[in-house]
Amino acid sequence: MNTRSAAIIVAGGAGKRFGGALPKQFLPLCGKPLFLWSVLAFKKVREFRDIIVVVPEDRLATLAPLGKKYSITFVAGGKERIDSVKAGLALVPADAAYIAIHDGARPLISPNLIRKVLAAAVAYKAALPAVSARDTIKLAGRSLVVKATVPRDEVWGAQTPQIFERKLIMRAYRKLGRRAVTDDAQVAELAGYRVQIVPGERENIKITEPFDLFLAKHYRKMKE
Ligand code: C5P
Repeated sequence: MNTRSAAIIVAGGAGKRFGGALPKQFLPLCGKPLFLWSVLAFKKVREFRDIIVVVPEDRLATLAPLGKKYSITFVAGGKERIDSVKAGLALVPADAAYIAIHDGARPLISPNLIRKVLAAAVAYKAALPAVSARDTIKLAGRSLVVKATVPRDEVWGAQTPQIFERKLIMRAYRKLGRRAVTDDAQVAELAGYRVQIVPGERENIKITEPFDLFLAKHYRKMKE
């Protein structure tokens, strides 16, 4: 069975919510640019032969030496996250049977979780890691008036990597058009595919605000 896989690591955002001149995915984390930790995790999983990292166009030249050193293909991203994913999908080699799409802003991803999600993708064709909700979830409008309380045992926080059979995700992206989505599993859902959740890892956080970087630094140091 062909389980050859390609990883698309999206690191093409401007990191507006985080602030600062350098986008968050390039900030140093324990001596390496933040996004590189995800690359290193995928490199530890045998099936991942191709690693494509999507970055802002103006960073391509600076990153070229790193591309050589770690055998990474860098490509310029687009305006929205889905545009960056599409730029990555266009470079996936034809013999990759599975495609993982991962946020470059999740540096604490473990090779073990990648393996678990890949196994689920092989079984179910579309899989993502997710964590159960800890807080009670309220639905509210812009005025912050509560409309309803969502049953907590049915709510999951989606993480990445989200891994798909190649044909499935290519077809789903072609069907999407310009509809707005917030992750790749949603693209598969909208195309009518069944998507399987795999229990994620709490530490697989997305670096969104400075506090997240503080947590990630301490977690990495603790692991060393
Ligand atoms: O903004 P947010 O944290 O949701 O972005 C998730 C991931 O998508 C980040 O790693 C970010 O760099 C990436 N992204 C991208 N291209 C964009 C916007 C976001 O690759 N245009």
